[in-house]
Amino acid sequence: MSLRFNALNNLLNSQTVQPGNSTKITAIFAENVFTHQVARQFLSDEAFKSLLGSIRAGQKIDRSMAAQIANGIRAWADTKGVTHFTHWFQPLTGTTAEKHDSFFTLKSDGTPIEQFEGDALIQQEPDASSFPSGGLRATFEARGYTAWDPSSPAFIMDTGYGKTLCIPTIFVSYTGESLDYKAPLLKAIEALNHAAVDVCNYFDRNVAHVTPTLGWEQEYFIVDEGLFNARPDLVLCGRTVFGHNPAKGQQLEDHYFGSIPERIYAFMLDYENEAYKLGIPLRTRHNEVAPAQFECAPIFEEVNLAVDHNTLLMDIMTRVAARHKLRVLLHEKPFAGINGSGKHNNWSMATDTGVNLLAPGKTPKTNLMFLAFFVNSIKAVHDYSDLLRASIASASNDFRLGANEAPPAIISVFIGEYLTKVLQDVKARVTEKMDETDESMLKIDIHRSIPELLMDNTDRNRTSPFAFTGNKFEFRAVGSSANCANAMTVLNTIMADTLKKFKKDVDGLIEKGEKKEIAIMHTIREYIVASEKILFEGDGYSAEWEKEAERRGLPNVKTTPLALDAMVTEKAKKLFSDNNIYSHPELEARHEIELEKYIKKVQIESRLMAELSTSHVLPAAVRYQNILVENVKGLKDIGLGDAACAQRTEILSKISEHINKVSELTVAMIEARKKANNLTDTRGKALAYCTDVKEKFFDELRYHVDKLELMVDDKEWYLPKYRELVFLR
Ligand code: ADP
Ligand code: MG
Repeated sequence: MSLRFNALNNLLNSQTVQPGNSTKITAIFAENVFTHQVARQFLSDEAFKSLLGSIRAGQKIDRSMAAQIANGIRAWADTKGVTHFTHWFQPLTGTTAEKHDSFFTLKSDGTPIEQFEGDALIQQEPDASSFPSGGLRATFEARGYTAWDPSSPAFIMDTGYGKTLCIPTIFVSYTGESLDYKAPLLKAIEALNHAAVDVCNYFDRNVAHVTPTLGWEQEYFIVDEGLFNARPDLVLCGRTVFGHNPAKGQQLEDHYFGSIPERIYAFMLDYENEAYKLGIPLRTRHNEVAPAQFECAPIFEEVNLAVDHNTLLMDIMTRVAARHKLRVLLHEKPFAGINGSGKHNNWSMATDTGVNLLAPGKTPKTNLMFLAFFVNSIKAVHDYSDLLRASIASASNDFRLGANEAPPAIISVFIGEYLTKVLQDVKARVTEKMDETDESMLKIDIHRSIPELLMDNTDRNRTSPFAFTGNKFEFRAVGSSANCANAMTVLNTIMADTLKKFKKDVDGLIEKGEKKEIAIMHTIREYIVASEKILFEGDGYSAEWEKEAERRGLPNVKTTPLALDAMVTEKAKKLFSDNNIYSHPELEARHEIELEKYIKKVQIESRLMAELSTSHVLPAAVRYQNILVENVKGLKDIGLGDAACAQRTEILSKISEHINKVSELTVAMIEARKKANNLTDTRGKALAYCTDVKEKFFDELRYHVDKLELMVDDKEWYLPKYRELVFLR
């Protein structure tokens, strides 16, 4: 029996899953995290102070202190039955990496003991040669090491088979170039902190620290494990490369409003519990638009922690799903013709005085501060929209962006009608001759026109890739499988850079004798004028917007190899080195790595398409073709004339045509791949894979395969069909 029918049978006979006991969340929340409270218990005053100093002010922890902290962490882990530890990091492959070592060791006389030394906490040297480095390690040094990031707390990963203490770390080359997602993110957070504090101090001298915040919303699909295993494309690429649309898709929109299916519900409760134990503050869960699509979202956190929690959650979901004989699909577009998945990144900035810098203020003065940060955000996106676009570019997100569903490849900003009016007002009323009375009148009017219930009045536009939603911006074009760190590094860097310029511009006017608040107003006005072409309130999915965007000169880059060009422009190099995020070689290495990832992904998909065509599709189609041939022959033998055969012959000729096309295209695609493989320049190769392999063959090949799926006898078809994958569970 084929895997398909076996899986369908198993589904029919599978036992209904009992949802586990609902546990009170507060009873388990963060029980596997080395939180401040736990640290307080397990560390001496001195060690605790040193740890806090490092977390809050980035102070260095010296060796003896590190030894004490390591001891405290191990003592805590011991009470939880932990035997191993690992440096947990986020290499550029897009997943997380770990290398486990046991606490167990032998003393010189052979006595077995368990220990965790300060050095082991601070630094490790995993074998870095198999992680992507874009040539960096070759150029600099053959080694890479992981270094402890005290700002993200240690946690215990409990897989059910064993417990491992995980130390969040950054991953850098021996000479200090970053090889992961976290090191640059931490630098960007620091750059933003400095720039934002300076601007805050115009309004409030008490602000000493600003942290970017992130609340992600994670979309995903769930399929039955048996059906998943019968689809080599899901197993190897995370998406279906073939598959005809089911008669019923998402047109009835019954999934979005429906209740969560039992089996999925049990899975959700299970992974949520795991997440809570790790301190991931999940808040919402619901069905999404497409059948078999779901979403979860936590309460927002500081961006570094939020990124760790998102990557951790993707891991947990995948692991817990296996327990339920389910599979999580994090791919941006697992099924053609059905909605794809994104990861909305809700982003804002918070001060140590407890102010959300993107929330409208309570007084005219704090509202001016809000306006400054709001307009700087728009200016940052305007000036560097190409970099934001590059930050979300991937082979898998290409199937989603710019398709006529879910954000276009054009970056624009939605701000809603109230704030549009406010910006117009500022534009009209801030003039050269403006005096203090004009200024305070305007400030009061702005205050009046930003209603407190702003939150309820925005967020009407779901088609914008970057939308203001009342007290934060929501970057919606991030891919569901992406590490948010990449987008967040760029966003925080461009914001830092823009704020720095803002401060310089305002100070320049003040030096010329302008009063501070008037100087701020003038600069805000200048920024509004300079960046208003990025603002768009209409339907981002429409064809008119593409034309309008072109007229405005906004870039609309639809494919990854071209979008990535933005990473290595002179402007980008200057931005990232000015703000100490990436050196030029680092940036070039990253560009190279992203291109290579793209090439490999398209290459794997193309290989798989050829293999499936030859070994799954054609045999089934040919078998059915033979049956029809026999049938026509038989009809003729017994003297039934052309009339009876006509219909059968027509089907036969159609099937034969599709069979021929599939064979021809497969051969031609392999040839195109060979040509692409011979190219030595990485960018050229990526472009060749994009246009000569993917664009030229994928859709057409798929068209003929999907036609065959509709015609060939169902019992001959071994790949589970869309209706089974998305509706059966
Ligand atoms: P929705 O977008 O579904 O209407 P909300 O607006 O309540 O839901 O929030 C969506 C996400 O935005 C949540 O993950 C939430 O944690 C996050 N969020 C809310 N406030 C902030 C903030 N100040 N900074 C970053 N993220 C935030
Ligand atoms: Mg949202």
